[in-house]
Amino acid sequence: MKITIHGGAREIGGSCIGVQTEYCKVALDYGTKFEESSSNQFPDGFDAIIISHAHLDHSGQLLSLSKKKPVIVGSKITREVTVALLKDMVKVQSQNDYNYPYFKHNANAIREHWWVRDYVALPGMTIKLHPAGHVAGARMTSIHSENKQVLYTGDFCVHDSEILEGCNTKALPKKPDVLIAESTYGGKVRSPRNELVDEFFRQIIDAMERKGNILIPTFAFHRSQEMAKRIDDAIKKGLLPRYNVYTISNLANKITDYFNENKDCFTKRIQQQKQPFKYSHVKHLYRTDQIEEPAVVICTSGFGHAGASLRLLKDWAEDENNSILLTSGYLPPDSPLRSAKEEGKFRNNGDEILVKAEIEQIELSGHADQLELVQMVKELKPKRTILVHGDIEQAQGLSEEIEEMTEVWIPEKGETIAI
Ligand SMILES: [Zn+2]
Repeated sequence: MKITIHGGAREIGGSCIGVQTEYCKVALDYGTKFEESSSNQFPDGFDAIIISHAHLDHSGQLLSLSKKKPVIVGSKITREVTVALLKDMVKVQSQNDYNYPYFKHNANAIREHWWVRDYVALPGMTIKLHPAGHVAGARMTSIHSENKQVLYTGDFCVHDSEILEGCNTKALPKKPDVLIAESTYGGKVRSPRNELVDEFFRQIIDAMERKGNILIPTFAFHRSQEMAKRIDDAIKKGLLPRYNVYTISNLANKITDYFNENKDCFTKRIQQQKQPFKYSHVKHLYRTDQIEEPAVVICTSGFGHAGASLRLLKDWAEDENNSILLTSGYLPPDSPLRSAKEEGKFRNNGDEILVKAEIEQIELSGHADQLELVQMVKELKPKRTILVHGDIEQAQGLSEEIEEMTEVWIPEKGETIAI
């Protein structure tokens, strides 16, 4: 068996791993890099492509296969959200680039080739998917072939969140020959989640007391619904005062409807509610000029590159009463939010905008941190562990903690490991 890291080696973005045996060849994920939409070419001719979850850094490159009738495997919600995100990507990219090679029908073709399964048999190979936490529909993949067991984590999360159960590591295959694990936070230990949520509410209350506006840039899929639910519940329980709270993202709104119709992906508490993502104190708006200030606004894009979050960042940055709350730990090097946070200013269309608003980063992440990753290695006892989906510092940080339990590889892009 040969494992080739086609993308997502020593970095986040463009995840794709090939697993090849004498009889068949599968790809684990087929993602784009955040800053490149169509230039990342992976091999094709796979017997199946398993998509771990709907984030485009794991699924966005599927468009390049739309004419080749690939077999794509993943959960139902991953299929629905991937197709919605691909259509949105096509819309945005073709506005910026007249030569963009893909259209809406290419995204629809992906839907037609998708098998919604948790179990697949290929020549000499069986594949099983396991809930991974992280986002709705996310799966880990275990492959059994040539008497060897491989487990790929995709992005995963062990702790429960407000709306999703964490990954049950006890249900995963023990002593795999190879564990291919994400290492996004491999070098980092986070505070317990309840402390982070308390801190998040404290920051919101501070800004509310100043009568400030609070911008919460977030991703349309899952994080937006999780955030709206968190704030809606907190207002209901009296943990937060009443305030104007809005979501602005048509894509997020569409995904919210889908979540209401597919409650079975979520925690038992969510499943018991009739319309869990229909909020009492959070209102959906279509445009930023509908906002009644002061307000809390949950909007896209998550990195502040475009959309309502860029517009509000520009409008609200210079007022020290306002607050910008970042809940993702990772910010790409070229993102306006990263320069706002690190340099206290950002550039937009040639103008330099000074940031006087408070910027706080509270990592309410859907990824395992170092403690959770180490614990998983302790439980599963893999012979070898390949670390992907993390900067080299994060992967090395994790490697130091687990190298006495398992043989660790931190491959480069294009590297093949024979087992
Ligand atoms: Zn992800």
